[in-house]
Amino acid sequence: MSEANKSGSLVEVTYVFGSRLPKHGRCVTTRAEIQRLQHRVSVSTGYVVEVCTVCGWNHLVRRFTLGGRRSA
Ligand SMILES: [Zn+2]
Repeated sequence: MSEANKSGSLVEVTYVFGSRLPKHGRCVTTRAEIQRLQHRVSVSTGYVVEVCTVCGWNHLVRRFTLGGRRSA
């Protein structure tokens, strides 16, 4: 963590892991892509990571589940 962390250089990055997604996860940047994953039948797991753009320091903010919608 650097001084920059205290002056607003932190950004939130969302990575999603799941079937048919890259092993290292996919970096999701748009709301539309999140919604597309949300509507898939297979379950994906999203990780929101806070990253300092100056020093690369990062930590997990939250984890959430996408998709897995049951067919009615
Ligand atoms: Zn930093």
